[in-house]
Amino acid sequence: MEQSLLDRRVQALVKTNPSLAEAAALQSALLGCIYGVSAPTRPIVLPAQRARDKLEAGTPLLHGEDVYLDDGFIRDVFGRLVNLLRTRPESAEGVAVVAVAARDHRLHVEHVVAEAFVNHADHVEQVAIQADIDADLLQTLAQLSARPILMAYAEHLATPLAAATWSRGYCPLCGAWPILAELRGPELSRHLRCGRCGSDWTASRLYCPFCGIDDHDSLGYLQIEGERRFRVDVCHRCQGYLKAGNAFDPSPPEMLALDDLASVHLDLAALERGHARPPEPGFRLDLVGDEGELYDD
Ligand SMILES: [Zn+2]
Ligand SMILES: [Zn+2]
Repeated sequence: MEQSLLDRRVQALVKTNPSLAEAAALQSALLGCIYGVSAPTRPIVLPAQRARDKLEAGTPLLHGEDVYLDDGFIRDVFGRLVNLLRTRPESAEGVAVVAVAARDHRLHVEHVVAEAFVNHADHVEQVAIQADIDADLLQTLAQLSARPILMAYAEHLATPLAAATWSRGYCPLCGAWPILAELRGPELSRHLRCGRCGSDWTASRLYCPFCGIDDHDSLGYLQIEGERRFRVDVCHRCQGYLKAGNAFDPSPPEMLALDDLASVHLDLAALERGHARPPEPGFRLDLVGDEGELYDD
């Protein structure tokens, strides 16, 4: 990703939301850390028919596969994030604890990032408790470190994904819930976007990705005064919500975090009205191979 594009997006964000200046600066620094390098991957052997069968059955493509995670890359990215957060007063103390735990081998960075790769937040939390680390901080570090690897595999598997139909609400690659929806083109077709791997899949505008309901009476949206770009789609059956924004082009995967930040006031509005996103991912991912077995429940 071009650094200049990131800078431009951040400037535009701060111009429209001056109160987000600090959060945007942090987000931009974090994004700079994780996208400065490309993650080493190994091809996943996934014949076209098997990919189609998986997607038809509602199984995300990465599930049950032997996915290579490069330890050196993971340690490098995790280390960059730790070093960055060390320079910030609000996180300095917390990351110092993380750094000591890693140095003393109470925290195995490759292990915790592998847990974040499969989105096992419960396991990341267990690691945090055992190593006496702030759990939210470790979730953030581990998820951010896993993201460039997820995005690299999403790119690898883009062809089988584009060739098949996917009719579920969760990500067809990694099983996470969409972070937001983009309404594109003259028909405002609805594209759901994964905030982890960046995948993009279409859904009817009248469909709750969380519970699958598609009737008028249960679905609605919150329009927030003064907000022109984003709105919030809500479901009155499962109380889920999803932010939706008009988009001319798909946001590059790396930029989804900025769109998410630019619309954070809509999250607050949705939460105030009793809506929430499901705490568990849409599909619980597991890998095979040595690592997968090791991290299985
Ligand atoms: Zn995903
Ligand atoms: Zn619902």
